[in-house]
Amino acid sequence: MTPPFPFHGGLKTVRHKTESNRETILPGSVPERLVVPLRQHVGAIAKPLVQAGDRVLKGQMIGQPDGYVSAAVHAPTSGRVVAVDQQPVPHPSGLPDWCVTIESDGQDRWIERTPVDYQRMHPSDLRNFVRNAGVVGLGGAVFPSAVKMNLSGHCERLEQLILNGAECEPWMTCDDLIMRERAVEIVAGIHILAHLLQPREVLIGIEDDKPEAIAAMNAACSGTGYQVRPVPTRYPSGGAKQLTKLLTNKEAPVNGRSTDIGVQCFNVATAYTLHRAVAHGEPVISRIVTVTGHIAQPRNIDALLGSSFADLIARCGGYREGVERLIMGGPMMGFAMHSDGVPVTKATNCILAVGADALVEPPVMPCIRCGDCVEVCPANLLPQQLYWHARAKEFDKIQDYHLFSCIECGCCSYVCPSHIPLVQYYRYAKNEIWALEKEKQRAELARRRHQARMERLEREQREREAKLRQKAPPRTASPLDGATAGQSPAEPALAAPASIAVNVERSE
Ligand code: SF4
Ligand code: SF4
Repeated sequence: MTPPFPFHGGLKTVRHKTESNRETILPGSVPERLVVPLRQHVGAIAKPLVQAGDRVLKGQMIGQPDGYVSAAVHAPTSGRVVAVDQQPVPHPSGLPDWCVTIESDGQDRWIERTPVDYQRMHPSDLRNFVRNAGVVGLGGAVFPSAVKMNLSGHCERLEQLILNGAECEPWMTCDDLIMRERAVEIVAGIHILAHLLQPREVLIGIEDDKPEAIAAMNAACSGTGYQVRPVPTRYPSGGAKQLTKLLTNKEAPVNGRSTDIGVQCFNVATAYTLHRAVAHGEPVISRIVTVTGHIAQPRNIDALLGSSFADLIARCGGYREGVERLIMGGPMMGFAMHSDGVPVTKATNCILAVGADALVEPPVMPCIRCGDCVEVCPANLLPQQLYWHARAKEFDKIQDYHLFSCIECGCCSYVCPSHIPLVQYYRYAKNEIWALEKEKQRAELARRRHQARMERLEREQREREAKLRQKAPPRTASPLDGATAGQSPAEPALAAPASIAVNVERSE
């Protein structure tokens, strides 16, 4: 067999790529006010380093990574911090989160930038540098890259380093454009990854509906030994597991990691930001965002993080008439926004405005057990079983059907003839299980604290009693010792004070 090696399931979807990929990347503007979330990555929220009233320079760290799985956050422009508080952010929960609001001074003045020579750095210093530069996966997962750049304890030797340029979601073209226009810098970023991870081979997977990107990457990879591999245009070929299967015919075990099979995967835009950080000393303060759908002039923008969705939409000529919904991400895996006032984050790969015509939602009917969802599931799951158990709130049983292997690709919902919003059920079940798990952990923590407190109180009591025993006057031999009940009150026995006697008794 020769590559590509097809994965199970998947779909041919409508593409809608040409709406936004005909124009070059538009440089972003500097808005008057930027709202920069401190949590733009998987893991612990960054610790704020600034407060209201502070002046900041472009690229200055304003949020420090808090622990191993975390990443730094930086000021996207120079100006004054006007607030560090909770603001609406683009997240499926719709809950606000901690943000640093910066009023631009219009000067866009950089902090001193310090590039590094990665070939001379100790691997752990390089990973630390990457964490402090705020580099995270820009494919949408926003997992801190420094963690993925550490193989120790996961695999002896990396077989394949995979660069993900598949970009399979309809409407989205940000990876296509960055590969067309910045291929040389992406390859420079791959050099850094290859230096650190020492893979046996480097494979770059790109869907075959992006001929310009494939040509640009081929030219940039010339003489490097890196292989550009076109893969069939089939959703969700951009899923890390699906792309790995397509390129290597290997599949990670259920609940396992890709490193278990000697593979590590990074998005092409992540490689680009890695290069900017290392070779130019520029932390991640912007990203390419596709603004498309019901928009006057859909295109890609190199947007400063913290710009509002409304800023970007205005740069693209505004909405067309009849917009009914705003989605962050693509139509298959994205989620609806309550407002366009939320800020662009490292996870914002696409802003999709949906018109009323595309929002005809047919009525949901009962499951007819047709099995269509099973046919298309790229994770080899049984979507209808997951649905039944999620509906019945049978959260133990649903995990027996590997709920957490579901990548929420939406293929099952897309083909379901009963129009059941299956993915919503899976998200609901995952959230419930996480909440139950958190509750369990909280209860366990409370139990341990209570136990520790009781042990401390008992220990303190024992210590008090021991001290009191030491303070008691020594007993001296007396002719009165051994007096009996018949003794005269005029001849009292030498006895310890009552309180000491009681304490001694308790301690025995
Ligand atoms: S596709 Fe829909 S109707 Fe068919 S088995 Fe799956 S959930 Fe049921
Ligand atoms: S959303 Fe989950 S269950 Fe449905 S097809 Fe995708 S991976 Fe399978």
